[in-house]
Amino acid sequence: MDLGTIILMLAVGSFLFGLLLVVFKYKKSNPQEVPFWIMAKFLQAAGSLILYHRTGSYDALTMVANALLLSGCAYETWTIRVLCGKTVKRRLHVSVTMALVVACLATLYIAAPFRAALICFLQSVFYILPGVFLFYRSEFRTFLRKLLGICYFVTGSAFLLCTFACLIFNEDVAGLREIPLFAIIPTISFCQFLISGYIMLMLAKERSDMQIMEIQKALEKTETKFQRIVETAIEGILIFDKQFRITFANNNMATILGYTIEEMIGRSYISFFPVSHLDVYYQQEALRKKGAGSVYECCLLRKDGKIHWFLISAKPIFDEQGNFDGSFAMLTDINERKEMELLLEESNRRLTELSNQDSLTGIANRRCFDATLEREYSRLKRSHSKLSIILIDIDYFKDYNDFYGHVMGDECLRLIGRALSRCINRSVDLAARYGGEEFACILPDTDINTAVKIAENIRQQIHDLKIEHKKSLVSKYVTASFGVTTVEYSPETALEEIVATADRLLYKAKVSGRNRIEFAEFSDLMKKSFPQF
Ligand code: GH3
Ligand code: MG
Ligand code: MG
Repeated sequence: MDLGTIILMLAVGSFLFGLLLVVFKYKKSNPQEVPFWIMAKFLQAAGSLILYHRTGSYDALTMVANALLLSGCAYETWTIRVLCGKTVKRRLHVSVTMALVVACLATLYIAAPFRAALICFLQSVFYILPGVFLFYRSEFRTFLRKLLGICYFVTGSAFLLCTFACLIFNEDVAGLREIPLFAIIPTISFCQFLISGYIMLMLAKERSDMQIMEIQKALEKTETKFQRIVETAIEGILIFDKQFRITFANNNMATILGYTIEEMIGRSYISFFPVSHLDVYYQQEALRKKGAGSVYECCLLRKDGKIHWFLISAKPIFDEQGNFDGSFAMLTDINERKEMELLLEESNRRLTELSNQDSLTGIANRRCFDATLEREYSRLKRSHSKLSIILIDIDYFKDYNDFYGHVMGDECLRLIGRALSRCINRSVDLAARYGGEEFACILPDTDINTAVKIAENIRQQIHDLKIEHKKSLVSKYVTASFGVTTVEYSPETALEEIVATADRLLYKAKVSGRNRIEFAEFSDLMKKSFPQF
Protein backbone atom coordinates (compact mmCIF):
# COMPACT_ATOMS: atom_id res chain seq x y z
CA MET A 1 0.00 0.00 0.00
CA ASP A 2 1.39 3.41 -0.89
CA LEU A 3 1.89 6.27 1.57
CA GLY A 4 -0.96 8.38 0.14
CA THR A 5 -3.52 5.62 0.68
CA ILE A 6 -2.36 5.06 4.27
CA ILE A 7 -2.62 8.80 5.01
CA LEU A 8 -6.09 8.89 3.47
CA MET A 9 -7.14 5.87 5.55
CA LEU A 10 -5.78 7.61 8.65
CA ALA A 11 -7.73 10.75 7.79
CA VAL A 12 -11.00 8.90 7.18
CA GLY A 13 -10.43 6.59 10.19
CA SER A 14 -9.75 9.51 12.55
CA PHE A 15 -12.76 11.40 11.26
CA LEU A 16 -15.10 8.41 11.73
CA PHE A 17 -13.60 7.75 15.15
CA GLY A 18 -14.21 11.40 16.07
CA LEU A 19 -17.82 11.07 14.91
CA LEU A 20 -18.23 7.93 17.03
CA LEU A 21 -16.96 9.83 20.07
CA VAL A 22 -19.43 12.64 19.37
CA VAL A 23 -22.24 10.06 19.34
CA PHE A 24 -21.03 8.68 22.69
CA LYS A 25 -20.92 12.17 24.11
CA TYR A 26 -24.51 12.95 23.22
CA LYS A 27 -25.92 9.47 23.87
CA LYS A 28 -29.12 10.07 25.87
CA SER A 29 -29.14 6.94 28.03
CA ASN A 30 -25.52 6.96 29.18
CA PRO A 31 -23.49 9.92 27.88
CA GLN A 32 -19.72 9.32 27.95
CA GLU A 33 -16.96 11.75 27.29
CA VAL A 34 -13.19 11.83 27.75
CA PRO A 35 -11.84 15.39 27.52
CA PHE A 36 -9.52 16.19 24.54
CA TRP A 37 -10.35 12.98 22.70
CA ILE A 38 -12.82 14.27 20.10
CA MET A 39 -10.63 17.28 19.37
CA ALA A 40 -7.58 15.00 19.00
CA LYS A 41 -9.32 12.85 16.40
CA PHE A 42 -10.67 15.77 14.33
CA LEU A 43 -7.28 17.55 14.40
CA GLN A 44 -5.57 14.34 13.24
CA ALA A 45 -8.22 13.80 10.55
CA ALA A 46 -7.82 17.37 9.26
CA GLY A 47 -4.00 17.17 9.32
CA SER A 48 -3.93 13.81 7.52
CA LEU A 49 -6.40 15.01 4.87
CA ILE A 50 -4.31 18.09 4.02
CA LEU A 51 -1.17 15.97 3.99
CA TYR A 52 -2.84 13.54 1.56
CA HIS A 53 -3.38 16.41 -0.90
CA ARG A 54 0.11 17.82 -0.47
CA THR A 55 2.55 15.48 -2.20
CA GLY A 56 4.72 18.22 -3.73
CA SER A 57 7.20 20.59 -2.10
CA TYR A 58 6.99 21.74 1.55
CA ASP A 59 4.88 24.89 1.80
CA ALA A 60 2.63 26.76 4.25
CA LEU A 61 -0.25 24.29 3.79
CA THR A 62 2.03 21.34 4.56
CA MET A 63 3.18 23.27 7.63
CA VAL A 64 -0.48 23.72 8.70
CA ALA A 65 -1.06 19.99 8.15
CA ASN A 66 1.91 19.17 10.38
CA ALA A 67 0.73 21.66 13.04
CA LEU A 68 -2.74 20.03 13.02
CA LEU A 69 -1.31 16.51 13.20
CA LEU A 70 1.08 17.36 16.02
CA SER A 71 -1.61 19.19 18.01
CA GLY A 72 -3.85 16.16 17.48
CA CYS A 73 -1.10 13.92 18.87
CA ALA A 74 -0.66 16.27 21.84
CA TYR A 75 -4.41 16.17 22.50
CA GLU A 76 -4.32 12.37 22.32
CA THR A 77 -1.51 12.43 24.91
CA TRP A 78 -3.74 14.46 27.24
CA THR A 79 -6.58 12.04 26.59
CA ILE A 80 -4.38 9.16 27.76
CA ARG A 81 -3.42 11.13 30.84
CA VAL A 82 -7.05 11.73 31.68
CA LEU A 83 -7.85 8.05 31.06
CA CYS A 84 -5.11 7.16 33.54
CA GLY A 85 -7.00 9.16 36.15
CA LYS A 86 -4.79 12.25 36.12
CA THR A 87 -5.71 15.82 35.35
CA VAL A 88 -4.30 18.12 32.67
CA LYS A 89 -3.81 21.74 33.54
CA ARG A 90 -5.30 24.14 31.04
CA ARG A 91 -2.17 26.26 31.10
CA LEU A 92 -0.03 23.23 30.15
CA HIS A 93 -2.00 22.08 27.13
CA VAL A 94 -2.53 25.61 25.78
CA SER A 95 1.18 26.44 25.99
CA VAL A 96 2.18 23.08 24.45
CA THR A 97 -0.20 23.66 21.52
CA MET A 98 1.18 27.16 21.02
CA ALA A 99 4.77 25.87 21.17
CA LEU A 100 3.90 23.27 18.54
CA VAL A 101 2.44 25.93 16.25
CA VAL A 102 5.59 28.06 16.66
CA ALA A 103 7.80 25.01 15.97
CA CYS A 104 5.81 24.24 12.82
CA LEU A 105 6.08 27.87 11.67
CA ALA A 106 9.84 27.57 12.13
CA THR A 107 9.89 24.56 9.76
CA LEU A 108 9.18 27.00 6.91
CA TYR A 109 12.59 28.56 7.42
CA ILE A 110 14.93 25.62 8.06
CA ALA A 111 16.59 23.13 5.73
CA ALA A 112 14.65 20.03 4.67
CA PRO A 113 16.59 17.37 6.73
CA PHE A 114 16.37 19.47 9.92
CA ARG A 115 12.72 20.21 9.23
CA ALA A 116 11.98 16.48 8.81
CA ALA A 117 14.05 15.66 11.92
CA LEU A 118 12.17 18.27 13.99
CA ILE A 119 8.74 17.02 12.92
CA CYS A 120 9.72 13.38 13.48
CA PHE A 121 11.17 14.25 16.87
CA LEU A 122 8.01 16.06 17.98
CA GLN A 123 5.93 13.12 16.75
CA SER A 124 8.12 10.71 18.73
CA VAL A 125 7.71 12.86 21.86
CA PHE A 126 3.89 12.66 21.62
CA TYR A 127 4.01 8.89 21.14
CA ILE A 128 6.53 8.15 23.89
CA LEU A 129 4.83 10.47 26.42
CA PRO A 130 1.49 8.55 26.44
CA GLY A 131 3.55 5.35 26.73
CA VAL A 132 5.17 6.78 29.87
CA PHE A 133 1.76 7.76 31.26
CA LEU A 134 0.42 4.28 30.59
CA PHE A 135 3.34 2.56 32.30
CA TYR A 136 3.06 4.88 35.25
CA ARG A 137 0.94 3.66 38.20
CA SER A 138 -2.78 3.68 37.42
CA GLU A 139 -5.91 1.80 38.56
CA PHE A 140 -6.72 0.50 35.11
CA ARG A 141 -6.36 -2.98 33.78
CA THR A 142 -2.64 -3.65 33.65
CA PHE A 143 -2.55 -5.84 30.54
CA LEU A 144 -4.52 -3.51 28.28
CA ARG A 145 -2.67 -0.53 29.61
CA LYS A 146 0.70 -2.06 29.01
CA LEU A 147 -0.22 -3.29 25.55
CA LEU A 148 -1.30 0.22 24.64
CA GLY A 149 1.87 1.60 26.20
CA ILE A 150 3.99 -0.75 24.08
CA CYS A 151 2.13 0.38 20.94
CA TYR A 152 2.93 3.99 21.71
CA PHE A 153 6.57 3.17 22.52
CA VAL A 154 7.03 1.23 19.27
CA THR A 155 5.57 4.06 17.17
CA GLY A 156 7.47 6.69 19.17
CA SER A 157 10.72 4.75 18.72
CA ALA A 158 10.12 4.49 14.97
CA PHE A 159 9.73 8.27 14.78
CA LEU A 160 12.83 8.74 16.94
CA LEU A 161 14.81 6.50 14.57
CA CYS A 162 13.51 8.61 11.71
CA THR A 163 14.77 11.73 13.48
CA PHE A 164 18.27 10.37 13.80
CA ALA A 165 18.21 9.01 10.24
CA CYS A 166 17.25 12.42 8.86
CA LEU A 167 20.18 13.98 10.66
CA ILE A 168 22.70 11.20 9.86
CA PHE A 169 21.77 10.76 6.17
CA ASN A 170 21.03 14.43 5.70
CA GLU A 171 17.75 13.50 3.96
CA ASP A 172 14.16 14.63 4.34
CA VAL A 173 11.35 12.11 4.94
CA ALA A 174 10.71 11.52 1.25
CA GLY A 175 14.38 10.54 0.78
CA LEU A 176 14.28 8.09 3.71
CA ARG A 177 11.36 6.22 2.17
CA GLU A 178 13.81 4.25 0.02
CA ILE A 179 15.16 2.56 3.19
CA PRO A 180 12.80 -0.41 4.08
CA LEU A 181 12.80 0.27 7.86
CA PHE A 182 11.49 3.77 7.31
CA ALA A 183 9.10 2.73 4.60
CA ILE A 184 7.06 0.75 7.14
CA ILE A 185 6.63 3.73 9.50
CA PRO A 186 3.25 4.77 8.02
CA THR A 187 2.04 1.19 8.35
CA ILE A 188 3.19 1.14 11.99
CA SER A 189 1.31 4.44 12.55
CA PHE A 190 -1.84 3.00 11.03
CA CYS A 191 -1.66 -0.21 13.10
CA GLN A 192 -1.05 1.90 16.15
CA PHE A 193 -4.12 3.97 15.24
CA LEU A 194 -6.31 0.85 15.04
CA ILE A 195 -4.99 -0.88 18.16
CA SER A 196 -4.89 2.25 20.33
CA GLY A 197 -8.37 3.26 19.21
CA TYR A 198 -9.80 -0.07 20.26
CA ILE A 199 -7.93 -0.27 23.59
CA MET A 200 -8.69 3.37 24.43
CA LEU A 201 -12.39 2.74 23.85
CA MET A 202 -12.23 -0.15 26.29
CA LEU A 203 -10.34 1.92 28.84
CA ALA A 204 -12.84 4.77 28.43
CA LYS A 205 -15.71 2.35 29.01
CA GLU A 206 -13.98 1.05 32.11
CA ARG A 207 -13.37 4.60 33.33
CA SER A 208 -17.03 5.54 32.90
CA ASP A 209 -18.12 2.31 34.66
CA MET A 210 -15.81 3.16 37.53
CA GLN A 211 -17.20 6.69 37.68
CA ILE A 212 -20.76 5.31 37.80
CA MET A 213 -19.73 2.90 40.55
CA GLU A 214 -18.19 5.74 42.52
CA ILE A 215 -21.36 7.83 42.12
CA GLN A 216 -23.45 4.84 43.16
CA LYS A 217 -21.25 4.28 46.22
CA ALA A 218 -21.55 7.96 47.17
CA LEU A 219 -25.31 7.76 46.68
CA GLU A 220 -25.56 4.64 48.82
CA LYS A 221 -23.54 6.37 51.52
CA THR A 222 -25.83 9.41 51.44
CA GLU A 223 -28.89 7.17 51.41
CA THR A 224 -27.67 5.22 54.44
CA LYS A 225 -26.98 8.51 56.21
CA PHE A 226 -30.47 9.82 55.51
CA GLN A 227 -32.01 6.46 56.37
CA ARG A 228 -30.30 6.66 59.76
CA ILE A 229 -31.54 10.22 60.33
CA VAL A 230 -35.08 9.20 59.38
CA GLU A 231 -34.97 6.12 61.59
CA THR A 232 -33.70 7.98 64.62
CA ALA A 233 -35.94 11.05 64.15
CA ILE A 234 -38.26 11.80 67.07
CA GLU A 235 -40.86 12.79 64.48
CA GLY A 236 -42.98 10.30 62.64
CA ILE A 237 -42.31 10.37 58.90
CA LEU A 238 -44.73 9.23 56.23
CA ILE A 239 -44.44 9.29 52.44
CA PHE A 240 -47.50 8.79 50.25
CA ASP A 241 -48.02 7.99 46.58
CA LYS A 242 -50.46 9.79 44.27
CA GLN A 243 -53.39 7.84 45.72
CA PHE A 244 -52.34 8.76 49.29
CA ARG A 245 -51.21 5.22 50.04
CA ILE A 246 -48.28 4.94 52.41
CA THR A 247 -45.05 4.09 50.61
CA PHE A 248 -42.75 4.82 53.54
CA ALA A 249 -43.12 4.99 57.33
CA ASN A 250 -40.29 5.32 59.81
CA ASN A 251 -39.95 3.21 62.93
CA ASN A 252 -41.16 5.91 65.26
CA MET A 253 -44.35 6.46 63.27
CA ALA A 254 -45.20 2.77 63.25
CA THR A 255 -44.44 2.42 66.98
CA ILE A 256 -46.67 5.34 68.01
CA LEU A 257 -49.59 3.96 66.02
CA GLY A 258 -48.92 0.41 67.26
CA TYR A 259 -48.20 -1.11 63.85
CA THR A 260 -45.14 -2.67 62.23
CA ILE A 261 -43.68 -0.76 59.27
CA GLU A 262 -44.74 -3.63 56.96
CA GLU A 263 -48.34 -3.33 58.18
CA MET A 264 -48.37 0.37 57.40
CA ILE A 265 -46.93 0.21 53.89
CA GLY A 266 -49.63 0.17 51.22
CA ARG A 267 -52.41 1.31 53.58
CA SER A 268 -54.36 4.38 52.59
CA TYR A 269 -53.91 7.50 54.71
CA ILE A 270 -57.69 7.92 55.04
CA SER A 271 -57.94 4.61 56.94
CA PHE A 272 -56.09 6.26 59.85
CA PHE A 273 -58.65 9.05 60.19
CA PRO A 274 -61.51 8.73 62.68
CA VAL A 275 -64.91 9.46 61.10
CA SER A 276 -65.12 12.70 63.09
CA HIS A 277 -61.98 14.00 61.32
CA LEU A 278 -62.68 12.87 57.75
CA ASP A 279 -63.37 16.47 56.71
CA VAL A 280 -59.79 17.32 57.71
CA TYR A 281 -58.52 14.49 55.51
CA TYR A 282 -60.48 15.65 52.45
CA GLN A 283 -59.40 19.24 52.99
CA GLN A 284 -55.72 18.19 53.19
CA GLU A 285 -56.02 15.87 50.18
CA ALA A 286 -57.38 18.75 48.08
CA LEU A 287 -54.55 21.04 49.22
CA ARG A 288 -51.85 18.51 48.32
CA LYS A 289 -53.38 17.91 44.88
CA LYS A 290 -53.34 21.67 44.32
CA GLY A 291 -49.63 21.58 45.14
CA ALA A 292 -49.89 23.30 48.52
CA GLY A 293 -48.24 22.30 51.78
CA SER A 294 -49.75 22.88 55.21
CA VAL A 295 -49.35 22.44 58.94
CA TYR A 296 -52.35 21.13 60.84
CA GLU A 297 -53.36 19.38 64.04
CA CYS A 298 -55.22 16.14 63.70
CA CYS A 299 -55.76 12.83 65.43
CA LEU A 300 -55.09 9.47 63.81
CA LEU A 301 -56.41 6.04 64.76
CA ARG A 302 -54.00 3.68 66.48
CA LYS A 303 -54.12 -0.06 65.95
CA ASP A 304 -55.87 -0.46 69.32
CA GLY A 305 -58.67 1.84 68.06
CA LYS A 306 -57.70 4.76 70.28
CA ILE A 307 -56.93 8.16 68.82
CA HIS A 308 -53.52 9.86 68.95
CA TRP A 309 -52.94 13.56 68.32
CA PHE A 310 -50.26 14.88 65.95
CA LEU A 311 -49.06 18.19 64.62
CA ILE A 312 -48.65 17.35 60.93
CA SER A 313 -46.48 19.26 58.51
CA ALA A 314 -47.16 18.03 54.98
CA LYS A 315 -45.77 18.90 51.54
CA PRO A 316 -46.60 17.65 48.03
CA ILE A 317 -44.01 15.81 45.91
CA PHE A 318 -43.75 16.50 42.17
CA ASP A 319 -42.32 14.41 39.34
CA GLU A 320 -39.79 15.71 36.79
CA GLN A 321 -42.59 17.24 34.71
CA GLY A 322 -43.88 19.11 37.76
CA ASN A 323 -46.99 16.94 38.14
CA PHE A 324 -48.29 15.88 41.57
CA ASP A 325 -46.62 12.59 42.43
CA GLY A 326 -47.38 12.06 46.12
CA SER A 327 -46.70 13.77 49.40
CA PHE A 328 -44.50 13.80 52.44
CA ALA A 329 -45.56 14.32 56.06
CA MET A 330 -43.67 14.94 59.27
CA LEU A 331 -45.77 14.13 62.36
CA THR A 332 -44.96 15.50 65.82
CA ASP A 333 -46.53 13.66 68.74
CA ILE A 334 -48.71 16.18 70.63
CA ASN A 335 -50.98 13.62 72.25
CA GLU A 336 -50.05 14.46 75.83
CA ARG A 337 -50.44 18.20 75.28
CA LYS A 338 -53.71 17.72 73.40
CA GLU A 339 -55.15 15.48 76.09
CA MET A 340 -54.31 18.14 78.67
CA GLU A 341 -55.91 20.79 76.46
CA LEU A 342 -59.06 18.72 76.06
CA LEU A 343 -59.21 18.08 79.81
CA LEU A 344 -58.81 21.79 80.46
CA GLU A 345 -61.49 22.61 77.90
CA GLU A 346 -63.81 20.07 79.52
CA SER A 347 -63.19 21.38 83.03
CA ASN A 348 -63.70 24.97 81.81
CA ARG A 349 -66.96 23.94 80.22
CA ARG A 350 -67.96 22.18 83.42
CA LEU A 351 -67.04 25.25 85.46
CA THR A 352 -69.13 27.50 83.25
CA GLU A 353 -71.95 25.01 83.48
CA LEU A 354 -71.65 24.93 87.28
CA SER A 355 -71.55 28.69 87.54
CA ASN A 356 -74.85 28.74 85.65
CA GLN A 357 -76.44 25.85 87.52
CA ASP A 358 -78.52 25.82 90.68
CA SER A 359 -76.86 23.39 93.05
CA LEU A 360 -80.08 22.18 94.68
CA THR A 361 -82.30 21.48 91.67
CA GLY A 362 -79.69 21.07 88.92
CA ILE A 363 -81.52 23.46 86.58
CA ALA A 364 -80.25 26.93 85.57
CA ASN A 365 -79.73 29.49 88.30
CA ARG A 366 -80.67 33.17 88.62
CA ARG A 367 -77.35 34.28 87.07
CA CYS A 368 -78.04 32.18 83.95
CA PHE A 369 -81.65 33.44 83.88
CA ASP A 370 -80.54 37.10 83.89
CA ALA A 371 -77.89 36.55 81.18
CA THR A 372 -80.30 34.57 78.98
CA LEU A 373 -83.04 37.16 79.37
CA GLU A 374 -80.65 39.94 78.36
CA ARG A 375 -79.43 38.00 75.33
CA GLU A 376 -82.90 36.98 74.17
CA TYR A 377 -84.32 40.47 74.66
CA SER A 378 -81.56 42.05 72.56
CA ARG A 379 -82.19 39.36 69.92
CA LEU A 380 -85.81 40.58 69.74
CA LYS A 381 -84.46 43.81 68.24
CA ARG A 382 -83.56 41.92 65.08
CA SER A 383 -86.14 39.11 65.05
CA HIS A 384 -89.16 41.35 65.77
CA SER A 385 -90.85 38.36 67.38
CA LYS A 386 -92.29 37.88 70.89
CA LEU A 387 -90.64 36.73 74.06
CA SER A 388 -92.65 35.16 76.93
CA ILE A 389 -91.73 34.87 80.58
CA ILE A 390 -93.32 32.66 83.24
CA LEU A 391 -92.71 33.28 86.95
CA ILE A 392 -93.71 30.45 89.29
CA ASP A 393 -94.07 30.56 93.07
CA ILE A 394 -94.93 27.57 95.25
CA ASP A 395 -97.97 28.11 97.36
CA TYR A 396 -97.73 28.10 101.15
CA PHE A 397 -94.18 26.88 101.00
CA LYS A 398 -93.22 28.46 104.29
CA ASP A 399 -95.93 26.34 105.91
CA TYR A 400 -94.66 23.28 104.08
CA ASN A 401 -91.19 23.86 105.44
CA ASP A 402 -92.45 24.48 108.90
CA PHE A 403 -94.55 21.33 108.87
CA TYR A 404 -92.42 18.85 106.98
CA GLY A 405 -88.97 20.25 107.72
CA HIS A 406 -86.29 21.89 105.57
CA VAL A 407 -84.96 18.61 104.15
CA MET A 408 -88.35 17.64 102.81
CA GLY A 409 -88.68 21.22 101.56
CA ASP A 410 -85.48 20.84 99.58
CA GLU A 411 -86.66 17.53 98.13
CA CYS A 412 -89.92 19.19 97.09
CA LEU A 413 -87.95 21.95 95.31
CA ARG A 414 -85.88 19.29 93.53
CA LEU A 415 -88.98 17.44 92.30
CA ILE A 416 -90.56 20.64 91.06
CA GLY A 417 -87.34 21.64 89.30
CA ARG A 418 -87.31 18.28 87.49
CA ALA A 419 -90.99 18.59 86.54
CA LEU A 420 -90.24 22.03 85.14
CA SER A 421 -87.39 20.72 82.96
CA ARG A 422 -89.69 18.06 81.56
CA CYS A 423 -92.13 20.71 80.39
CA ILE A 424 -89.48 22.81 78.63
CA ASN A 425 -88.64 20.93 75.45
CA ARG A 426 -87.15 23.40 72.95
CA SER A 427 -83.41 24.01 73.18
CA VAL A 428 -83.92 27.78 73.06
CA ASP A 429 -86.23 27.73 76.12
CA LEU A 430 -84.83 28.05 79.62
CA ALA A 431 -86.14 26.84 82.99
CA ALA A 432 -84.41 28.34 86.02
CA ARG A 433 -84.66 28.59 89.78
CA TYR A 434 -85.27 32.25 90.27
CA GLY A 435 -84.66 32.20 94.01
CA GLY A 436 -86.05 30.50 97.16
CA GLU A 437 -89.22 28.66 96.11
CA GLU A 438 -89.60 30.68 92.93
CA PHE A 439 -88.93 29.39 89.41
CA ALA A 440 -88.91 31.11 86.02
CA CYS A 441 -89.05 30.24 82.33
CA ILE A 442 -87.82 32.20 79.28
CA LEU A 443 -89.62 31.25 76.07
CA PRO A 444 -88.23 33.01 72.95
CA ASP A 445 -90.46 33.33 69.83
CA THR A 446 -93.51 32.42 71.94
CA ASP A 447 -96.80 34.32 72.02
CA ILE A 448 -98.99 34.71 75.11
CA ASN A 449 -101.37 31.85 74.23
CA THR A 450 -98.58 29.31 73.80
CA ALA A 451 -96.87 30.56 76.97
CA VAL A 452 -100.10 30.12 78.93
CA LYS A 453 -100.48 26.59 77.55
CA ILE A 454 -96.94 25.79 78.72
CA ALA A 455 -97.64 27.33 82.14
CA GLU A 456 -100.81 25.27 82.41
CA ASN A 457 -98.87 22.16 81.61
CA ILE A 458 -96.32 23.00 84.33
CA ARG A 459 -99.11 23.71 86.85
CA GLN A 460 -100.66 20.35 86.00
CA GLN A 461 -97.33 18.50 86.23
CA ILE A 462 -96.65 20.03 89.70
CA HIS A 463 -100.08 19.02 90.83
CA ASP A 464 -99.59 15.54 89.38
CA LEU A 465 -96.47 15.10 91.49
CA LYS A 466 -98.98 14.69 94.34
CA ILE A 467 -96.60 15.97 96.98
CA GLU A 468 -98.67 15.93 100.13
CA HIS A 469 -99.19 19.40 101.68
CA LYS A 470 -101.44 19.26 104.72
CA LYS A 471 -100.99 22.94 105.45
CA SER A 472 -102.08 24.22 102.02
CA LEU A 473 -105.38 26.02 101.95
CA VAL A 474 -105.94 25.34 98.22
CA SER A 475 -105.14 21.64 97.72
CA LYS A 476 -104.06 18.39 99.46
CA TYR A 477 -100.94 18.58 97.33
CA VAL A 478 -98.20 21.12 96.66
CA THR A 479 -99.36 23.66 94.09
CA ALA A 480 -97.90 26.77 92.46
CA SER A 481 -99.09 30.11 91.15
CA PHE A 482 -98.05 31.62 87.82
CA GLY A 483 -97.51 35.02 86.28
CA VAL A 484 -97.11 34.97 82.48
CA THR A 485 -96.32 37.88 80.21
CA THR A 486 -95.23 38.37 76.62
CA VAL A 487 -93.14 41.24 75.34
CA GLU A 488 -92.10 42.73 72.00
CA TYR A 489 -88.97 44.81 71.70
CA SER A 490 -89.28 48.48 72.54
CA PRO A 491 -86.40 50.82 73.23
CA GLU A 492 -88.35 52.31 76.16
CA THR A 493 -88.79 48.97 77.94
CA ALA A 494 -86.16 47.97 80.51
CA LEU A 495 -85.56 44.31 81.33
CA GLU A 496 -86.44 44.84 85.00
CA GLU A 497 -89.86 46.12 83.98
CA ILE A 498 -90.64 42.86 82.16
CA VAL A 499 -89.74 40.71 85.18
CA ALA A 500 -91.59 43.11 87.47
CA THR A 501 -94.67 42.74 85.27
CA ALA A 502 -94.56 38.95 85.48
CA ASP A 503 -94.09 39.30 89.22
CA ARG A 504 -97.14 41.51 89.50
CA LEU A 505 -99.18 38.98 87.57
CA LEU A 506 -97.89 36.26 89.88
CA TYR A 507 -98.97 38.36 92.86
CA LYS A 508 -102.37 38.70 91.24
CA ALA A 509 -102.56 34.88 90.99
CA LYS A 510 -101.70 34.64 94.68
CA VAL A 511 -104.32 37.08 95.79
CA SER A 512 -106.90 35.56 93.45
CA GLY A 513 -106.68 32.23 95.27
CA ARG A 514 -103.30 30.61 94.26
CA ASN A 515 -102.79 27.43 92.14
CA ARG A 516 -103.64 29.48 89.05
CA ILE A 517 -102.18 31.40 86.13
CA GLU A 518 -102.50 35.12 85.55
CA PHE A 519 -101.34 36.41 82.21
CA ALA A 520 -101.29 39.53 80.09
CA GLU A 521 -99.37 41.06 77.17
CA PHE A 522 -96.76 43.42 78.54
CA SER A 523 -97.92 46.27 76.29
CA ASP A 524 -101.56 45.94 77.45
CA LEU A 525 -100.59 46.16 81.07
CA MET A 526 -98.42 49.18 80.43
CA LYS A 527 -101.45 50.96 79.02
CA LYS A 528 -103.45 50.20 82.17
CA SER A 529 -100.45 50.93 84.43
CA PHE A 530 -101.71 48.34 86.94
CA PRO A 531 -104.35 50.29 88.80
CA GLN A 532 -105.70 47.06 90.35
CA PHE A 533 -102.38 45.97 91.97
P1 GH3 B 1 -97.12 32.08 99.28
O1 GH3 B 1 -98.11 31.04 98.98
O2 GH3 B 1 -97.71 33.44 99.43
O3 GH3 B 1 -96.01 32.07 98.28
O4 GH3 B 1 -96.53 31.69 100.66
P2 GH3 B 1 -95.13 31.15 100.97
O5 GH3 B 1 -95.09 30.60 102.28
O6 GH3 B 1 -94.74 30.17 99.88
O7 GH3 B 1 -94.19 32.39 100.77
P3 GH3 B 1 -93.08 32.99 101.70
O8 GH3 B 1 -92.27 33.93 100.80
O9 GH3 B 1 -93.68 33.50 102.88
O10 GH3 B 1 -92.19 31.77 102.05
C1 GH3 B 1 -91.15 31.24 101.22
C2 GH3 B 1 -90.48 30.15 101.94
O11 GH3 B 1 -89.70 29.37 101.12
C3 GH3 B 1 -89.56 30.65 103.01
C4 GH3 B 1 -88.52 29.60 103.12
O12 GH3 B 1 -88.72 28.81 104.25
C5 GH3 B 1 -88.74 28.73 101.95
N1 GH3 B 1 -87.55 28.54 101.23
C6 GH3 B 1 -86.90 29.46 100.45
N2 GH3 B 1 -85.77 28.90 99.93
C7 GH3 B 1 -85.72 27.59 100.38
C8 GH3 B 1 -84.80 26.53 100.19
O13 GH3 B 1 -83.78 26.62 99.48
N3 GH3 B 1 -85.09 25.37 100.79
C9 GH3 B 1 -86.21 25.20 101.54
N4 GH3 B 1 -86.44 24.04 102.10
N5 GH3 B 1 -87.05 26.19 101.75
C10 GH3 B 1 -86.83 27.38 101.18
MG1 MG C 1 -92.11 33.51 97.31
MG1 MG D 1 -94.50 30.91 97.86
